[in-house]
Amino acid sequence: MLDKTTPIFGAHYAQLPDRFYAEQPATPVAKPSWIAFNKLLAEDLQLDATQIATEAGLAIFAGNQTPPGTVPLAMAYSGHQFGHWNPSLGDGRALLLGDVTDKAGQRFDIQLKGSGPTPFSRNGDGRAALGPVLREYVLSEAMNAMGIATTRALAAVSTGEKVRRETPLPGAIITRVAKSFVRVGTFQYFVAHDDKEGLMALADFSIERHEPDLKGTEYPYLELLKRVVSRQAHLIASWQLIGFIHGVMNTDNVSIAGETIDYGPCAFMDQYDPATVFSSIDSLGRYAYQNQPRIGQWNLSVLAQSMLPILHEDEDQALALAQDAINEFSAQFDLAFRTGLLKKIGIVEEQSGDYELAIELLDTMKQARADFTNTFRALSNLDLSAPEIGAAQLPLTDWVNNWLRHTDGGKRIDQNMMRSVNPAFIPRNHRIEAMIQAATRGDFSLFHELMEVLATPFEDKPIHHAYTLPPAPDERVHQTFCGT
Ligand code: AMP
Ligand code: MG
Repeated sequence: MLDKTTPIFGAHYAQLPDRFYAEQPATPVAKPSWIAFNKLLAEDLQLDATQIATEAGLAIFAGNQTPPGTVPLAMAYSGHQFGHWNPSLGDGRALLLGDVTDKAGQRFDIQLKGSGPTPFSRNGDGRAALGPVLREYVLSEAMNAMGIATTRALAAVSTGEKVRRETPLPGAIITRVAKSFVRVGTFQYFVAHDDKEGLMALADFSIERHEPDLKGTEYPYLELLKRVVSRQAHLIASWQLIGFIHGVMNTDNVSIAGETIDYGPCAFMDQYDPATVFSSIDSLGRYAYQNQPRIGQWNLSVLAQSMLPILHEDEDQALALAQDAINEFSAQFDLAFRTGLLKKIGIVEEQSGDYELAIELLDTMKQARADFTNTFRALSNLDLSAPEIGAAQLPLTDWVNNWLRHTDGGKRIDQNMMRSVNPAFIPRNHRIEAMIQAATRGDFSLFHELMEVLATPFEDKPIHHAYTLPPAPDERVHQTFCGT
């Protein structure tokens, strides 16, 4: 049994002033049951897994029991949604329980999502349907297994209640873990309230949590901004390099810690087409694959704008410093993308013409509507001593010939490295949809199978070959839907 008095979670965010959040207990649910518990993550976070994978733990992750010493909080934030300013967002269906510290000494916040209404719920019910909970669980863990910065999934539980969407759907709650849940929109909130003190307190919290080495330096807030720019540039480059489309890159979904956050109608691209959009609510294609870097920079310009009052006493200077910080994005993104793309074709030390060769591959793939993941994986496994057959199958005969000619007959190609950056398995959208449909009928076997396959995305697993296949025409999913 869990000890009823010793606090499980710290209260770092709760030390911030009252106006940063609303205290709000979770709303209990009828009949909670476990879907998944991430024991390995729990152990990394120094949580007592054997004590938590119990009825008592279930009650906590269902919101039916508040852990000892915990005051659940709904965080306040604003944001630009699809470019439109919305001053009053905030956690409408999420509650921060508190923080834990992992074995390496890094602090993480733990949040319930789908745990009932809060003062920020507006017209929403504060709940989450099973499908979006499972999508977030699988995708965030798959992203982590691929080495991409992301929030993690600690637990998922069924509520035993229905949520009303277009049709009644089973309800669920996900417990997610982040370096923090501070967003660009959190900074915007304090600007919207003309609250410079709040802004400074938030920046100090972010430095304390994410960039402690900046404490006591001359321009810590400017440096914080630069770090966020750099982390986001690297994050978005890593999305582009595996074909991930976030779907809702609103400023309230951009993490100051540089993690992928708020998995909504997100998906991986099958065929390589830079114009790909999945989200059903993104009819204009604002957040299409090819737009993600540009939108990322726009979101950071909103952060810079929000931080102006604390960058420098002199307004003109503040503006110039902010502009410089934002301009860094392109260079950082380009370098991360370029280096990553070269690695995908096996090249570590760039020589002249290498990048053009890589771009030529992307162009060829686009023309051929080639599968993004499988093309890079097949090149990683191509027998370079006899490449003809494999190349013809792709069909990339001309490009492969160029590739070999340009790399001293393949001597500059490191296929082991290629296999460590080009996944064999991604959470393909049609597989996710099939898994969600099965789970909605009460069958979680596909969920568990997907989790197993995606735990080691860089290992070829012949028995799971079917998971590498792109969708057949009748399996293709054109749209994904938000969790709301
Ligand atoms: P999202 O697009 O999921 O990041 O959510 C955008 C905003 O809508 C956030 O303020 C959420 O808290 C809020 N929201 C989304 N779904 C719900 C819901 N079912 N009930 C209440 N608020 C919600
Ligand atoms: Mg959000």
